[in-house]
Amino acid sequence: MSRQPVKGSLPPRDNRSAFLLDVHKRGIPGVERMRRYADDDEVDLVIVGAGAGGGTLAQRLARRGWRIVILESGPFWDPDRDWVSDEAGQHKIYWTAPRVIGGSDPVELGKNNSGHGVGGSMIHFAGYAPRFHPSDFETFSRDGVGADWPLTYWELKPHYEKVERELPVAGQDWPWGDPHSYPHAAHPISGAAEQGRRGALAAGIDMKIGPVAIPNGTFGNRPHCIYRGFCLQACKVNAKASPFVTHLPDAIEHGVEVRADAHAVAVEATGRRATGVRFMHHGYERFQKAKAVCVSGYSIETPRLLLNSGIRNHDDQLGRYVMVQGATQMAARFPDQLRQYKGPPPEISSEQFYETDEARGFARGFSIQTVGPLPIDWAQHVLADGHWGHALREYMRDYNHWTTLGLLCELLPRAENRVTLADETDEHGMPVAHFDYSQCDNDRANIAYGTQVLKNIWEAADAQDVLKIDRYAHLVGGCRMGTAPENSVVDSDHRVWGYDNLLVCDGSVMPTQGSANPALTIMALASRLAERITSGR
Ligand SMILES: Cc1cc2nc3c(=O)[nH]c(=O)nc-3n(C[C@H](O)[C@H](O)[C@H](O)COP(=O)(O)OP(=O)(O)OC[C@H]3O[C@@H](n4cnc5c(N)ncnc54)[C@H](O)[C@@H]3O)c2cc1C
Ligand code: SF4
Repeated sequence: MSRQPVKGSLPPRDNRSAFLLDVHKRGIPGVERMRRYADDDEVDLVIVGAGAGGGTLAQRLARRGWRIVILESGPFWDPDRDWVSDEAGQHKIYWTAPRVIGGSDPVELGKNNSGHGVGGSMIHFAGYAPRFHPSDFETFSRDGVGADWPLTYWELKPHYEKVERELPVAGQDWPWGDPHSYPHAAHPISGAAEQGRRGALAAGIDMKIGPVAIPNGTFGNRPHCIYRGFCLQACKVNAKASPFVTHLPDAIEHGVEVRADAHAVAVEATGRRATGVRFMHHGYERFQKAKAVCVSGYSIETPRLLLNSGIRNHDDQLGRYVMVQGATQMAARFPDQLRQYKGPPPEISSEQFYETDEARGFARGFSIQTVGPLPIDWAQHVLADGHWGHALREYMRDYNHWTTLGLLCELLPRAENRVTLADETDEHGMPVAHFDYSQCDNDRANIAYGTQVLKNIWEAADAQDVLKIDRYAHLVGGCRMGTAPENSVVDSDHRVWGYDNLLVCDGSVMPTQGSANPALTIMALASRLAERITSGR
């Protein structure tokens, strides 16, 4: 038997994306010779959105011979050409189209919530890749809040394992939820994260390194992370995972057309069958014919598109139960220079407070993670704590002495937190999304408790000063999955109730959100869906 030296870790089976990339260029090779389909060529599937859900689903089905077009509203990035190592220069990767917000606790939308362009929001996601806990799939049965999913953690587990190898995920052995290990060992951590870990340990809180979707070492033709701290502005190195480097190269190699700058305005359907998608492309309206349609535009845009398409919604479920996580952050000052920008923002995390503990007086819980605000974000932290003028300048000058921890609090799904269509229209003549959001008492108690825990950590670490900013993170829900049209928009196989061939595959299908970041679960759901479709279930 001949032995060949292998550089980096072993590849996952059934996905060669990391090996299809060019060592010397960051764009996806093969885009020039990508397969193109005519509008009247009835493809097997048209997917709206080239993000976590859409990109993963396309890769899986293309490998099984499906002819697929992905319509993506944003551009086809070439990182060498388009991305810059500059905080202000990267606003192009955010979804900044107008939206109307309301409710008693409105959610600021924009850079913190969703992305735009091939690769979707993971182009600028931080990189945390935790699994959900088994309890997340049955919060109603266990804790009397939220909703039970129509599937269990154990059905998703093989897909978590697959996707963790594809990204790949690096981290210490994970003791929380369903204890598991990761394909890559943990990264070294920065001095800034070390302060958080020291404080947590002193406060009796266990923190682990990871889990992050950043290979520890080279992975195929993807290079090692250079710890430059720009994960939230897009990784120009191609070290951090996103569908752009983890699934779309393999999808394109297997015949998928990713049609960029193609903004879907309506799904067309006759009776129980979707027939294709109307979309705007360089100022012209076109129609892509398809045997099946999957909407993967994320939690605001997916319900908006389906509402605008007049999709049957007898039980008024479409657009409801949109969730965000309470993401208060607390920064702490130390005498040493810590330079929190050196290293990826995701470094260490704790899920010790994830599950319900009745003694705390509220249901469900939160996780704690490092974050690494760059200077513009840092200015927002300082402002949020009430400092302005001379004080703001002094805090900005002092940036290198600070380190930051954040919460992800599980805020509960509520029917009134919903997306509807506003009266205003966008540049395509499509009604803008209106998103109302209000917290409940359980949400407020959760955030207050978590904030006190952050304070305890920094006190235990002997921090000299702290700054607090209240904020939200992530989006899920809006087209949740369930057991019947009265309680959901899609069934457990992501099929919209009342349609045979209309699917939703993205963060909008999630009935609860746990205290974990959602991207890995969205990809695992897409992987499971592809398996179920192709095995005829
Ligand atoms: C700043 C930030 C940090 C984050 N950090 C983390 C993290 O550390 N860990 C984690 O797990 N998650 C994180 N997330 C969240 C994660 O990135 C998202 O949950 C995930 O990418 C959502 O996947 P999706 O498939 O639902 O949608 P997306 O990945 O957002 O893909 C949707 C795509 O659809 C396109 N689209 C929408 N409407 C249309 C239309 N009408 N026509 C054509 N195309 C359309 C969009 O342009 C977009 O490319 C972060 C998100 C942000 C914004
Ligand atoms: S810290 Fe690593 S993963 Fe993040 S942007 Fe830099 S090179 Fe990429």
